[in-house]
Amino acid sequence: MPAIETVPAGHGKALRLRAGQRVKLVNTHGGQVVDCWAFNANDVREHLSMDCTRVWNQRINPKLGDTLVSNQRRPIVTLEQDTSPGIHDTLMAACDQRRYELLGVVGYHRNCQDNLVEGMLALGVTPPPRAPSPLNIFMNIPVGDDRNSLSFQPARCKAGDFVVLRAEMDCVVVFSACPQDIAPINGEGGVTPRDVAFEIVE
Ligand SMILES: [Zn+2]
Repeated sequence: MPAIETVPAGHGKALRLRAGQRVKLVNTHGGQVVDCWAFNANDVREHLSMDCTRVWNQRINPKLGDTLVSNQRRPIVTLEQDTSPGIHDTLMAACDQRRYELLGVVGYHRNCQDNLVEGMLALGVTPPPRAPSPLNIFMNIPVGDDRNSLSFQPARCKAGDFVVLRAEMDCVVVFSACPQDIAPINGEGGVTPRDVAFEIVE
């Protein structure tokens, strides 16, 4: 039986996929945003790129079946399954310490940027000096009726919803169960970070 790994609320984990392997990411409790990065396992300077992926697919956010590409414009992962409402985000930066300071937090607050670094180091991979923009899985950032404004809305996925990403090259994938508890994006009331889980499937 493949091992199911929990990503504790507000924390991150990294994993390795060989080309052709898949990872199933489960929204265990529903309503949780998961920041995701993918890096070429042989050279982390090549990574999943949101801007190149928007060019590749000619849409803002990926849909079921879309291939996502690297900053070298090469396929890196494919969104092969998605039982959620299909609402994801490619526009918002990962949260970081400064984001929480600007939201009024005094002292350290866990954040996706640090989760990326922690997760990669725990896997024995040196993270790049600057984190790429993440794929924000399950994140609900609708474009307003003016076709310009953005707003932070609670994720609309339910408990047990999942996505499956298939690796198109040997890669390191990082998931961060976003610790955001001020801007209303996660879980109950939009401010309740929760665990998620993943398993590697062939
Ligand atoms: Zn975050």
